[in-house]
Amino acid sequence: MHPEVFVAIAGVALQLFLLITAADLLGGLFHWAEDTLGSEDTPIWGPVFVRPSSRHHDQPTYILNVPWQRGAGLIAVTVAVVLAGAWLIGLFSWQLVVFALFSGMNDLAHRLEHTPTRDLPNVVRILRRLRLLQDSRHHWQHHKAPHTSHYCVLTPWVNPVLDSLGFWRGLERLVVPILGAPRRPDLR
Ligand SMILES: [Zn+2]
Ligand SMILES: [Zn+2]
Repeated sequence: MHPEVFVAIAGVALQLFLLITAADLLGGLFHWAEDTLGSEDTPIWGPVFVRPSSRHHDQPTYILNVPWQRGAGLIAVTVAVVLAGAWLIGLFSWQLVVFALFSGMNDLAHRLEHTPTRDLPNVVRILRRLRLLQDSRHHWQHHKAPHTSHYCVLTPWVNPVLDSLGFWRGLERLVVPILGAPRRPDLR
């Protein structure tokens, strides 16, 4: 292979890796915020995000009772609005499309982690075997008390790094004194 072609392919592969990693981190940040900040009584945030998150911890498989189209529709509209906005202000790029699409896939990946293995499509099994998609056992670490690690649900490579660095505890030291975390006993 011509060296320039190899460098170009390697560059695209590296960008894909970083964009998917960033999408997983964004999903993890959102999940951490849902699990950590405010309470069920916080206006808007409480009923829209905190309550479903608490319910998910109490009944992890309940999300399978909610039609997947409900969440996917809202996410698709959000992704479309972000991409349209980026296009209008001249920031549209393939990198943004990849980042937005994979960010939007966090919810689906999480749902698949709670789906019985026998019901998983073959493509999901293959992606998991290739260690490109997080599996149920990995996600289940988050469902063990005190639910303070493994916030990312997309890939298997982001959680080990963030958890071993103490990333979430560092973020809590910065954010919780300002915004509060009344329902986390360890942060009161
Ligand atoms: Zn959680
Ligand atoms: Zn879960």
